[in-house]
Amino acid sequence: MATTGEAQPTKHQEVGHKSLLQSDALYQYILETSVYPREPESMKELREVTAKHPWNLMTTSADEGQFLNLLLKLINAKNTMEIGVYTGYSLLSTALALPEDGKILALDINRENYEIGLPIIEKAGVAHKIDFREGPALPLLDEMVDDVKLHGSFDFIFVDADKDNYLNYHKRLIDLVKIGGVIGYDNTLWNGSLVAPPDAPLRKYVRYYRDFVLELNKALAVDVRVEICQLPVGDGITLCRRIS
Ligand code: SAM
Ligand code: CA
Repeated sequence: MATTGEAQPTKHQEVGHKSLLQSDALYQYILETSVYPREPESMKELREVTAKHPWNLMTTSADEGQFLNLLLKLINAKNTMEIGVYTGYSLLSTALALPEDGKILALDINRENYEIGLPIIEKAGVAHKIDFREGPALPLLDEMVDDVKLHGSFDFIFVDADKDNYLNYHKRLIDLVKIGGVIGYDNTLWNGSLVAPPDAPLRKYVRYYRDFVLELNKALAVDVRVEICQLPVGDGITLCRRIS
């Protein structure tokens, strides 16, 4: 349902990257009909705790959390990685989807925010699946790539951290994900800014990262090692299935 070009920003545009649907009412409809009634209690609790945090704009939206949870089940993921944890909403949706012996290597430069969500993750009984490492992801990925035993060992990798490094991550992750496995790059529609006119009033960080997201999208579109699908869920997620 497209709006007809009126200048007034809708409430939906104000909530920014939570969805790129052009109708706030339609997005609320999805949340209220299909997402919130099915959201596990622990995810609801974590969503509400995160909403009080000053950087809550960074959290994964509930509809995307539901999407990730179902996707992981559909592909029978067991060994996974997440780059960019924040308070752990996507991490919890992943942990709940994995089997009891499933694993998530969770990387973030900030442990403090992870610890906001950790008690809720523990209460949900899934903390044993998580191996959290504090620090920048890139050096750790380099170490992992040096260990050939780890090549092709991940079923799923969710990338939701520093957008200026996504292409650097991709160069390494392509070796670490198994053939037939999936890498999901988050925020690949970057708040709709990718198609904004040059003089559009973009927030500073949106403008800064925009070029990196444009480069990533171009590179993924021609990468013959993966099949891709860019979905307008949340702020856009590009799924890459490794084929060679
Ligand atoms: N997936 C999270 C969720 O569901 O709430 C949101 C992640 S948030 C958008 C981005 C996170 O990436 C932040 O927590 C930030 O600390 C982390 N980050 C930024 N640069 C990083 C880096 N170089 N290595 C690892 N994590 C990084
Ligand atoms: Ca994100």
